[in-house]
Amino acid sequence: MPREIRLAARPVGFPKGSDFQLTESTLAEPGEGEVLVRNLYMSVDPYMRGRMNDVKSYSPPFKLGEALEGGAVGRVERSRNPNFKEGDIVNNGLGWREAFVSDGRGLTRIDANAASMTAYLGVLGGTGLTAYVGLLDIGKPKLGETVFISAAAGAVGSIAGQIARIKGCRVVGSAGSREKLDFLVNELGFDAAINYREGNLDQALAAHCPNGIDVYFDNVGGDHLQAALGLMNAFGRISACGMISQYNNAQPVPGPNNLTNIVRNRLLVQGFIISDHLDRRAAFLADMSAWMRDGKIKHRETVVEGLENAPRAFLGLLQGENTGKMLVKLSD
Ligand code: NDP
Repeated sequence: MPREIRLAARPVGFPKGSDFQLTESTLAEPGEGEVLVRNLYMSVDPYMRGRMNDVKSYSPPFKLGEALEGGAVGRVERSRNPNFKEGDIVNNGLGWREAFVSDGRGLTRIDANAASMTAYLGVLGGTGLTAYVGLLDIGKPKLGETVFISAAAGAVGSIAGQIARIKGCRVVGSAGSREKLDFLVNELGFDAAINYREGNLDQALAAHCPNGIDVYFDNVGGDHLQAALGLMNAFGRISACGMISQYNNAQPVPGPNNLTNIVRNRLLVQGFIISDHLDRRAAFLADMSAWMRDGKIKHRETVVEGLENAPRAFLGLLQGENTGKMLVKLSD
């Protein structure tokens, strides 16, 4: 019997293990036009925390007592659909379960020979596209400008920073451990990196951005947004990608105290949701594939084994246990 993870309770504040329930599910034989897919890897993503709340947002809340959803790659095990054959590797939105039957809608066949299949959940998937659109289309970096990226050692941040380097910018990243700083500077070629858990963030950022900040790629919000606002140059751009420091707040907390800098420095602050920008996918895949082929983009994955450990992987993601893309391996 395949297993799945259901939402047992809506988390209040930081999620607990008991908010998730591992259960066995029943699987019908695929009917005419259907396929049976066994998931191999699934993605855990910060936005899933928002979907655990019962609030109106850009994607609907997860339902209590039902299996969670999210990006995954799986293998077609049985097919009665002419568009798929057994052995096909397909991208799908039905993670958090070991197997499922589908009529084929929402499944995209991927070429697992061209790149590792897990790349389609990260650098060649949604997080890579988020980095590309958020940096290039919203941040609009110019040669020689300073770009600051928070949660820089994560899936989105690590790619956004490397794209900024490709565009000839000075790139400064923040992350939560010395190992991550080493990864940013010595493996990915960031110009400087700050450990926000040590010392004073405003002072460290000022020290590493002597010419101010032209583009802030915000993955964190809160103290990071305030620190960046304090150093933004005139006509700077803030690409508001995410605010992970706020996702587990049980109550609203006060925002940055220096928002007047937006007016004073004529800043452009733009939030975006990647699903509004899928028209950029073809350009992204062409550029990203070429950059990867030329060794200009590196990517890392942190892989947790077993569906039963998916909640732990998700909680770990929210606490910085990942470097690069956080994934769960479900099957060989
Ligand atoms: P990451 O791989 O970056 O993982 C999250 C990271 O956030 C952790 O590794 C941790 O790293 C850091 N973090 C957690 N809590 C805090 C905190 N309180 N302060 C500072 N850093 C913290 O995840 P993704 O790359 O998938 O996502 C990055 C951001 O992009 C998120 O905000 C996410 O919501 C957003 N996003 C937005 C999309 C959009 O369409 N707008 C699409 C995809 C993602 P550390 O060790 O450094 O603390």
